[in-house]
Amino acid sequence: MIDPKNNASFDAHEDVVFVGGENQGYAGVVAIHNTVLGPAAGGCRIWDYDSADAALTDALRLSRGMTYKNAMADLPLGGGKAVIYRINTDRVDAFQKFGDAVEKLGGRYITAEDVGATVSDMRAIAGRTSYVAGIPKEHGQAGGDPSPWTALGVFLSIKAMLGGSVQGRTIAVQGVGAVGFHLCKLLAEAGAKLVVADVNKANLQRAEALGVEIAPVDQIHAVGADVFSPCALGAGLNATTIPELGAPIVCGAANNQLATEEDGARLVARGIAYGPDYVVNAGGIINVSCEYLGQSEKDADAKVRAIPGRVLKVLDIAKAENIPPHQAADRIVREKIAAARKT
Ligand code: NAD
Repeated sequence: MIDPKNNASFDAHEDVVFVGGENQGYAGVVAIHNTVLGPAAGGCRIWDYDSADAALTDALRLSRGMTYKNAMADLPLGGGKAVIYRINTDRVDAFQKFGDAVEKLGGRYITAEDVGATVSDMRAIAGRTSYVAGIPKEHGQAGGDPSPWTALGVFLSIKAMLGGSVQGRTIAVQGVGAVGFHLCKLLAEAGAKLVVADVNKANLQRAEALGVEIAPVDQIHAVGADVFSPCALGAGLNATTIPELGAPIVCGAANNQLATEEDGARLVARGIAYGPDYVVNAGGIINVSCEYLGQSEKDADAKVRAIPGRVLKVLDIAKAENIPPHQAADRIVREKIAAARKT
Protein backbone atom coordinates (compact mmCIF):
# COMPACT_ATOMS: atom_id res chain seq x y z
CA MET A 1 0.00 0.00 0.00
CA ILE A 2 1.43 3.38 -1.02
CA ASP A 3 1.58 5.94 1.79
CA PRO A 4 1.29 9.48 0.29
CA LYS A 5 3.16 10.90 3.31
CA ASN A 6 6.31 9.09 2.15
CA ASN A 7 6.19 10.84 -1.22
CA ALA A 8 8.64 13.77 -1.59
CA SER A 9 5.85 15.91 -3.12
CA PHE A 10 3.57 15.50 -0.08
CA ASP A 11 2.89 18.98 1.34
CA ALA A 12 0.51 18.59 4.27
CA HIS A 13 -2.24 17.54 1.85
CA GLU A 14 -5.57 17.29 3.65
CA ASP A 15 -6.57 14.04 1.98
CA VAL A 16 -5.32 11.66 -0.70
CA VAL A 17 -7.72 9.00 -1.94
CA PHE A 18 -6.93 6.14 -4.31
CA VAL A 19 -9.99 5.56 -6.49
CA GLY A 20 -11.04 2.70 -8.75
CA GLY A 21 -9.17 -0.59 -8.65
CA GLU A 22 -9.12 -4.01 -10.28
CA ASN A 23 -12.90 -4.57 -10.21
CA GLN A 24 -13.71 -0.97 -11.27
CA GLY A 25 -12.03 -0.95 -14.68
CA TYR A 26 -9.98 2.14 -13.91
CA ALA A 27 -7.45 3.36 -11.36
CA GLY A 28 -6.63 6.84 -10.17
CA VAL A 29 -5.88 9.14 -7.28
CA VAL A 30 -7.60 12.26 -5.98
CA ALA A 31 -5.39 14.65 -4.02
CA ILE A 32 -7.05 17.33 -1.90
CA HIS A 33 -4.34 19.79 -0.97
CA ASN A 34 -6.10 22.60 0.86
CA THR A 35 -9.74 23.57 1.47
CA VAL A 36 -9.26 26.67 3.65
CA LEU A 37 -10.65 28.95 0.91
CA GLY A 38 -13.33 26.52 -0.33
CA PRO A 39 -13.83 23.08 -1.88
CA ALA A 40 -10.73 21.76 -3.63
CA ALA A 41 -11.06 22.37 -7.37
CA GLY A 42 -8.80 21.15 -10.16
CA GLY A 43 -9.08 19.06 -13.30
CA CYS A 44 -8.80 15.35 -13.87
CA ARG A 45 -5.69 14.35 -15.85
CA ILE A 46 -5.62 11.12 -17.84
CA TRP A 47 -2.04 10.06 -18.44
CA ASP A 48 -0.06 6.90 -19.02
CA TYR A 49 2.19 6.99 -15.94
CA ASP A 50 5.01 4.50 -15.43
CA SER A 51 3.66 3.57 -11.99
CA ALA A 52 0.98 4.37 -9.43
CA ASP A 53 3.70 6.20 -7.50
CA ALA A 54 4.43 8.48 -10.48
CA ALA A 55 0.70 9.23 -10.75
CA LEU A 56 0.57 10.04 -7.04
CA THR A 57 3.55 12.41 -7.37
CA ASP A 58 1.80 14.28 -10.17
CA ALA A 59 -1.50 14.46 -8.27
CA LEU A 60 0.27 15.82 -5.16
CA ARG A 61 2.24 18.41 -7.13
CA LEU A 62 -0.66 19.52 -9.33
CA SER A 63 -3.15 19.78 -6.44
CA ARG A 64 -0.76 22.02 -4.52
CA GLY A 65 -0.42 24.16 -7.67
CA MET A 66 -4.22 24.50 -7.80
CA THR A 67 -4.31 25.82 -4.22
CA TYR A 68 -1.92 28.59 -5.29
CA LYS A 69 -3.67 29.31 -8.60
CA ASN A 70 -7.18 29.45 -7.11
CA ALA A 71 -6.12 31.58 -4.16
CA MET A 72 -4.22 34.04 -6.35
CA ALA A 73 -7.28 34.39 -8.61
CA ASP A 74 -9.44 35.26 -5.56
CA LEU A 75 -11.69 32.24 -6.18
CA PRO A 76 -13.69 30.73 -3.30
CA LEU A 77 -11.92 27.45 -3.96
CA GLY A 78 -9.14 25.37 -2.53
CA GLY A 79 -6.75 23.17 -4.48
CA GLY A 80 -7.19 19.59 -5.64
CA LYS A 81 -6.49 17.39 -8.61
CA ALA A 82 -7.38 13.94 -9.88
CA VAL A 83 -5.16 11.72 -11.96
CA ILE A 84 -6.40 8.60 -13.74
CA TYR A 85 -3.55 6.30 -14.70
CA ARG A 86 -5.37 3.23 -15.99
CA ILE A 87 -8.61 2.64 -17.90
CA ASN A 88 -9.32 -0.96 -18.89
CA THR A 89 -13.04 -0.83 -19.44
CA ASP A 90 -15.42 1.17 -21.61
CA ARG A 91 -14.44 4.85 -21.17
CA VAL A 92 -17.97 6.05 -20.31
CA ASP A 93 -18.27 3.31 -17.69
CA ALA A 94 -14.88 4.27 -16.20
CA PHE A 95 -15.85 7.94 -15.92
CA GLN A 96 -19.24 7.10 -14.43
CA LYS A 97 -17.46 5.08 -11.76
CA PHE A 98 -15.02 7.94 -11.23
CA GLY A 99 -18.11 10.17 -10.84
CA ASP A 100 -19.30 7.87 -8.04
CA ALA A 101 -15.91 8.29 -6.33
CA VAL A 102 -16.13 12.10 -6.63
CA GLU A 103 -19.67 11.99 -5.21
CA LYS A 104 -18.42 9.98 -2.24
CA LEU A 105 -16.04 12.82 -1.36
CA GLY A 106 -19.17 14.83 -0.61
CA GLY A 107 -18.16 18.07 -2.36
CA ARG A 108 -14.68 18.38 -0.91
CA TYR A 109 -13.33 17.94 -4.47
CA ILE A 110 -14.73 19.43 -7.71
CA THR A 111 -13.45 18.02 -10.98
CA ALA A 112 -13.20 19.29 -14.58
CA GLU A 113 -11.12 18.63 -17.72
CA ASP A 114 -7.35 18.49 -17.71
CA VAL A 115 -4.82 16.98 -20.13
CA GLY A 116 -6.36 13.88 -21.75
CA ALA A 117 -9.94 14.49 -20.57
CA THR A 118 -12.84 15.67 -22.74
CA VAL A 119 -16.26 17.26 -22.41
CA SER A 120 -17.85 13.81 -22.99
CA ASP A 121 -15.86 12.45 -20.04
CA MET A 122 -17.23 15.28 -17.88
CA ARG A 123 -20.76 14.47 -19.09
CA ALA A 124 -20.29 10.85 -17.98
CA ILE A 125 -19.11 12.06 -14.54
CA ALA A 126 -22.07 14.48 -14.35
CA GLY A 127 -24.42 11.49 -14.63
CA ARG A 128 -23.24 10.46 -11.17
CA THR A 129 -22.29 13.65 -9.32
CA SER A 130 -22.92 17.38 -9.38
CA TYR A 131 -19.32 18.11 -8.25
CA VAL A 132 -18.11 18.58 -11.84
CA ALA A 133 -17.65 21.48 -14.29
CA GLY A 134 -16.32 21.94 -17.84
CA ILE A 135 -19.63 21.18 -19.54
CA PRO A 136 -21.05 23.62 -22.13
CA LYS A 137 -24.03 25.54 -20.77
CA GLU A 138 -26.89 27.53 -22.26
CA HIS A 139 -26.10 30.79 -24.04
CA GLY A 140 -24.74 33.43 -21.67
CA GLN A 141 -23.89 30.99 -18.87
CA ALA A 142 -20.24 30.25 -18.07
CA GLY A 143 -19.17 26.73 -18.97
CA GLY A 144 -17.45 24.43 -21.44
CA ASP A 145 -13.90 24.37 -22.79
CA PRO A 146 -11.68 26.44 -20.45
CA SER A 147 -8.82 26.94 -22.97
CA PRO A 148 -10.12 30.10 -24.74
CA TRP A 149 -10.39 31.72 -21.29
CA THR A 150 -6.89 30.69 -20.39
CA ALA A 151 -5.72 32.16 -23.70
CA LEU A 152 -7.54 35.44 -22.99
CA GLY A 153 -5.80 35.79 -19.61
CA VAL A 154 -2.41 35.09 -21.20
CA PHE A 155 -3.08 37.58 -24.01
CA LEU A 156 -4.09 40.35 -21.59
CA SER A 157 -1.04 39.62 -19.41
CA ILE A 158 1.33 39.82 -22.40
CA LYS A 159 -0.28 43.10 -23.41
CA ALA A 160 0.09 44.51 -19.90
CA MET A 161 3.72 43.40 -19.60
CA LEU A 162 4.42 45.15 -22.92
CA GLY A 163 2.97 48.39 -21.56
CA GLY A 164 -0.51 48.18 -23.14
CA SER A 165 -0.18 47.09 -26.78
CA VAL A 166 1.08 44.13 -28.81
CA GLN A 167 0.81 46.00 -32.12
CA GLY A 168 3.96 45.34 -34.21
CA ARG A 169 5.57 43.33 -31.40
CA THR A 170 7.02 39.86 -31.98
CA ILE A 171 5.76 37.02 -29.79
CA ALA A 172 7.40 33.58 -29.87
CA VAL A 173 4.79 30.97 -28.93
CA GLN A 174 5.93 27.50 -27.89
CA GLY A 175 3.04 25.09 -28.50
CA VAL A 176 -0.04 25.94 -30.53
CA GLY A 177 -2.49 23.44 -29.03
CA ALA A 178 -5.78 24.39 -27.40
CA VAL A 179 -4.49 27.47 -25.52
CA GLY A 180 -1.59 28.39 -27.84
CA PHE A 181 -3.81 28.51 -30.91
CA HIS A 182 -6.47 30.70 -29.27
CA LEU A 183 -3.68 32.94 -27.99
CA CYS A 184 -2.18 33.27 -31.49
CA LYS A 185 -5.60 34.27 -32.84
CA LEU A 186 -5.95 37.04 -30.26
CA LEU A 187 -2.38 38.23 -30.84
CA ALA A 188 -2.74 38.20 -34.64
CA GLU A 189 -6.03 40.16 -34.44
CA ALA A 190 -4.26 42.75 -32.27
CA GLY A 191 -1.44 43.21 -34.81
CA ALA A 192 1.39 41.17 -33.28
CA LYS A 193 3.95 39.27 -35.35
CA LEU A 194 4.05 35.59 -34.46
CA VAL A 195 6.77 32.98 -34.50
CA VAL A 196 5.59 29.55 -33.37
CA ALA A 197 6.81 25.99 -32.89
CA ASP A 198 5.03 22.73 -32.21
CA VAL A 199 5.86 19.03 -32.42
CA ASN A 200 2.38 18.35 -33.78
CA LYS A 201 2.17 18.98 -37.57
CA ALA A 202 -1.64 19.28 -37.67
CA ASN A 203 -1.58 21.94 -34.96
CA LEU A 204 1.19 23.82 -36.81
CA GLN A 205 -0.81 23.78 -40.03
CA ARG A 206 -3.84 25.18 -38.22
CA ALA A 207 -1.67 28.04 -36.91
CA GLU A 208 -0.14 28.70 -40.34
CA ALA A 209 -3.51 30.04 -41.49
CA LEU A 210 -2.90 32.97 -39.09
CA GLY A 211 0.19 34.01 -41.05
CA VAL A 212 2.72 32.87 -38.46
CA GLU A 213 6.39 32.20 -39.03
CA ILE A 214 7.56 28.74 -37.97
CA ALA A 215 10.70 28.09 -35.92
CA PRO A 216 12.37 24.77 -35.07
CA VAL A 217 11.04 23.20 -31.89
CA ASP A 218 14.46 23.27 -30.19
CA GLN A 219 15.01 26.96 -31.08
CA ILE A 220 11.71 28.69 -30.29
CA HIS A 221 12.88 29.85 -26.85
CA ALA A 222 15.96 31.48 -28.45
CA VAL A 223 14.08 33.39 -31.18
CA GLY A 224 14.72 37.15 -31.00
CA ALA A 225 11.31 38.42 -29.85
CA ASP A 226 9.63 40.86 -27.47
CA VAL A 227 7.94 38.04 -25.55
CA PHE A 228 8.51 34.30 -25.23
CA SER A 229 5.22 32.53 -24.44
CA PRO A 230 5.54 28.89 -23.25
CA CYS A 231 2.23 27.15 -24.04
CA ALA A 232 3.39 23.52 -24.28
CA LEU A 233 4.78 21.49 -21.40
CA GLY A 234 6.25 22.44 -18.03
CA ALA A 235 9.92 22.84 -17.00
CA GLY A 236 10.74 24.76 -20.22
CA LEU A 237 12.63 27.41 -18.25
CA ASN A 238 15.77 25.68 -17.03
CA ALA A 239 19.55 25.92 -16.75
CA THR A 240 19.94 25.13 -20.46
CA THR A 241 17.22 27.31 -21.99
CA ILE A 242 17.42 30.41 -19.77
CA PRO A 243 20.91 31.49 -20.98
CA GLU A 244 19.61 31.15 -24.57
CA LEU A 245 16.28 32.99 -24.18
CA GLY A 246 15.82 35.57 -26.94
CA ALA A 247 13.11 37.73 -25.34
CA PRO A 248 13.18 40.10 -22.35
CA ILE A 249 9.72 38.93 -21.20
CA VAL A 250 8.34 35.43 -20.51
CA CYS A 251 4.57 35.10 -20.22
CA GLY A 252 2.66 31.97 -21.16
CA ALA A 253 0.09 29.32 -20.27
CA ALA A 254 2.16 26.23 -19.44
CA ASN A 255 1.96 24.99 -15.86
CA ASN A 256 5.15 24.67 -13.79
CA GLN A 257 7.36 26.55 -16.26
CA LEU A 258 10.32 26.86 -13.89
CA ALA A 259 12.19 23.53 -13.79
CA THR A 260 13.62 24.37 -10.35
CA GLU A 261 13.38 27.11 -7.73
CA GLU A 262 16.79 28.47 -8.87
CA ASP A 263 15.47 29.10 -12.38
CA GLY A 264 13.40 32.04 -11.09
CA ALA A 265 16.64 33.66 -9.89
CA ARG A 266 18.36 32.78 -13.20
CA LEU A 267 15.72 34.80 -15.06
CA VAL A 268 16.21 37.76 -12.72
CA ALA A 269 19.98 37.59 -13.22
CA ARG A 270 19.45 37.85 -16.98
CA GLY A 271 17.08 40.82 -16.52
CA ILE A 272 14.14 38.85 -17.94
CA ALA A 273 10.67 39.73 -16.60
CA TYR A 274 8.70 36.57 -15.79
CA GLY A 275 4.91 36.56 -15.38
CA PRO A 276 4.48 33.66 -12.91
CA ASP A 277 2.63 30.79 -14.62
CA TYR A 278 -0.21 30.30 -12.17
CA VAL A 279 -0.97 34.02 -12.00
CA VAL A 280 -1.07 34.30 -15.81
CA ASN A 281 -2.88 31.05 -16.69
CA ALA A 282 -5.84 31.22 -14.27
CA GLY A 283 -8.45 32.05 -16.97
CA GLY A 284 -9.55 28.44 -17.41
CA ILE A 285 -10.14 27.73 -13.72
CA ILE A 286 -11.89 31.09 -13.39
CA ASN A 287 -14.35 29.95 -16.06
CA VAL A 288 -14.72 26.56 -14.36
CA SER A 289 -15.44 28.28 -11.06
CA CYS A 290 -18.03 30.60 -12.67
CA GLU A 291 -19.71 27.56 -14.24
CA TYR A 292 -19.76 25.70 -10.93
CA LEU A 293 -21.18 28.72 -9.10
CA GLY A 294 -23.86 29.25 -11.79
CA GLN A 295 -22.40 32.57 -12.94
CA SER A 296 -22.52 34.10 -16.41
CA GLU A 297 -19.93 34.41 -19.20
CA LYS A 298 -19.93 38.14 -18.41
CA ASP A 299 -18.82 37.36 -14.84
CA ALA A 300 -16.07 35.07 -16.15
CA ASP A 301 -14.93 37.75 -18.59
CA ALA A 302 -14.71 40.40 -15.86
CA LYS A 303 -12.72 38.07 -13.58
CA VAL A 304 -10.30 37.07 -16.36
CA ARG A 305 -9.74 40.75 -17.12
CA ALA A 306 -8.46 41.16 -13.54
CA ILE A 307 -5.52 38.81 -14.24
CA PRO A 308 -3.08 41.33 -15.81
CA GLY A 309 -3.46 43.67 -12.83
CA ARG A 310 -2.31 40.85 -10.55
CA VAL A 311 0.62 40.05 -12.82
CA LEU A 312 1.79 43.68 -12.71
CA LYS A 313 1.32 43.83 -8.94
CA VAL A 314 3.44 40.71 -8.45
CA LEU A 315 6.16 42.14 -10.72
CA ASP A 316 6.11 45.44 -8.79
CA ILE A 317 6.51 43.66 -5.45
CA ALA A 318 9.30 41.49 -6.87
CA LYS A 319 11.15 44.57 -8.12
CA ALA A 320 10.67 46.57 -4.93
CA GLU A 321 11.86 43.70 -2.73
CA ASN A 322 14.48 42.38 -5.12
CA ILE A 323 13.04 38.86 -5.16
CA PRO A 324 12.04 36.65 -8.12
CA PRO A 325 8.39 37.18 -9.21
CA HIS A 326 7.38 33.57 -8.47
CA GLN A 327 8.47 34.08 -4.85
CA ALA A 328 6.47 37.30 -4.62
CA ALA A 329 3.40 35.44 -5.94
CA ASP A 330 3.84 32.52 -3.53
CA ARG A 331 4.08 34.91 -0.60
CA ILE A 332 0.83 36.72 -1.56
CA VAL A 333 -0.94 33.35 -1.65
CA ARG A 334 0.45 32.17 1.67
CA GLU A 335 -0.68 35.43 3.26
CA LYS A 336 -4.21 35.05 1.82
CA ILE A 337 -4.53 31.51 3.14
CA ALA A 338 -3.14 32.45 6.56
CA ALA A 339 -5.64 35.35 6.79
CA ALA A 340 -8.54 33.05 5.80
CA ARG A 341 -7.43 30.48 8.37
CA LYS A 342 -7.60 33.12 11.11
CA THR A 343 -11.17 34.09 10.23
P1 NAD B 1 -2.59 21.03 -25.64
O1 NAD B 1 -2.16 19.62 -25.44
O2 NAD B 1 -3.85 21.30 -26.38
O3 NAD B 1 -1.42 21.86 -26.40
C1 NAD B 1 -0.07 21.70 -26.12
C2 NAD B 1 0.67 21.83 -27.45
O4 NAD B 1 2.07 21.81 -27.18
C3 NAD B 1 0.37 20.69 -28.42
O5 NAD B 1 0.06 21.21 -29.70
C4 NAD B 1 1.68 19.90 -28.44
O6 NAD B 1 1.93 19.26 -29.67
C5 NAD B 1 2.68 21.00 -28.18
N1 NAD B 1 3.98 20.55 -27.70
C6 NAD B 1 4.29 19.51 -26.90
N2 NAD B 1 5.62 19.44 -26.70
C7 NAD B 1 6.16 20.47 -27.39
C8 NAD B 1 7.47 20.93 -27.56
N3 NAD B 1 8.51 20.33 -26.99
N4 NAD B 1 7.68 22.02 -28.33
C9 NAD B 1 6.64 22.65 -28.92
N5 NAD B 1 5.36 22.24 -28.79
C10 NAD B 1 5.12 21.17 -28.04
O7 NAD B 1 -2.62 21.68 -24.19
P2 NAD B 1 -3.27 23.08 -23.76
O8 NAD B 1 -4.59 22.80 -23.14
O9 NAD B 1 -3.15 24.05 -24.87
O10 NAD B 1 -2.30 23.50 -22.57
C11 NAD B 1 -1.01 24.03 -22.83
C12 NAD B 1 -0.30 24.26 -21.50
O11 NAD B 1 -1.04 25.19 -20.72
C13 NAD B 1 -0.14 23.01 -20.64
O12 NAD B 1 1.05 23.12 -19.91
C14 NAD B 1 -1.32 23.11 -19.68
O13 NAD B 1 -1.07 22.41 -18.47
C15 NAD B 1 -1.39 24.60 -19.47
N6 NAD B 1 -2.71 25.10 -19.07
C16 NAD B 1 -3.79 24.86 -19.85
C17 NAD B 1 -5.03 25.35 -19.47
C18 NAD B 1 -6.26 25.14 -20.33
O14 NAD B 1 -7.25 25.85 -20.12
N7 NAD B 1 -6.24 24.24 -21.31
C19 NAD B 1 -5.16 26.08 -18.28
C20 NAD B 1 -4.01 26.34 -17.50
C21 NAD B 1 -2.79 25.82 -17.91
